[in-house]
Amino acid sequence: MLELQGVSAHYGAIQALKSVDLQVRAGEIVTLIGANGAGKSTLMTTIFGMPRASSGRIVLADEDITALPPHHIAQRQIALVPEGRRIFARMSVRENLLVGMSAARGTRGAHDAETGLRHVFALFPILEARQTQRAGTLSGGEQQMLAIGRALMGSPRLLLLDEPSLGLAPLVIRTIFHTITALNRELGLTILLVEQNARQALRIAHRGYVLQNGAVVLEGSGQDLLNDPQVRAAYLDAA
Ligand code: ATP
Repeated sequence: MLELQGVSAHYGAIQALKSVDLQVRAGEIVTLIGANGAGKSTLMTTIFGMPRASSGRIVLADEDITALPPHHIAQRQIALVPEGRRIFARMSVRENLLVGMSAARGTRGAHDAETGLRHVFALFPILEARQTQRAGTLSGGEQQMLAIGRALMGSPRLLLLDEPSLGLAPLVIRTIFHTITALNRELGLTILLVEQNARQALRIAHRGYVLQNGAVVLEGSGQDLLNDPQVRAAYLDAA
């Protein structure tokens, strides 16, 4: 469904991605782990053309999207839940969801607003209960659900999640990981998940990639990476 072939990306003179090869097949949860600054967020945003890949190819559902403008990429049944959630704190929960709808305007297969809201509320009943509340008054976990719900308004088939567990309490983190598994199993969403929380991410992922200094240094099934001595030493033992 998504393939990066030798993708490099730069911020001015800094090379943030170094010839990355990565594949996400339909129906998979693929996780990307790595230390702070390894380039995980850059990999996500480069898929949307920000920054644009300086070399290599990005193919989404058999279409080369490497050179497409970001707003065209956003209309291709792919959605990003950015690091830090970026919800609009002073707007209501419902308004935040409708922003997701307009961001995805023009997407093939997108719902109308009411259908989109119904779907999101069925997944996250708490958002329906709080729909008129200002988003800034939600708990951290609820805000993460809102950020995911907003991304789902455009009915994507591929969801990119950047550090969804960041800053949340352990119990809430478990709920978020359950939610991700349910989105994959029950809704059939394909998921690319960036996580600091490597252990839990690898547990729910079919496959994973380890990114170091902008380059993929290891890839394998979630289980193999969990058992890998290098991964254990670098990303799991201290966690
Ligand atoms: P984190 O978990 O801390 O977000 P990351 O693995 O997502 O880390 P990136 O945020 O992708 O890493 O950063 C990769 C490299 O690119 C780092 O060296 C970072 O300093 C640099 N970088 C990221 N964003 C920018 C930017 N807007 N301008 C310049 N350099 C940047």
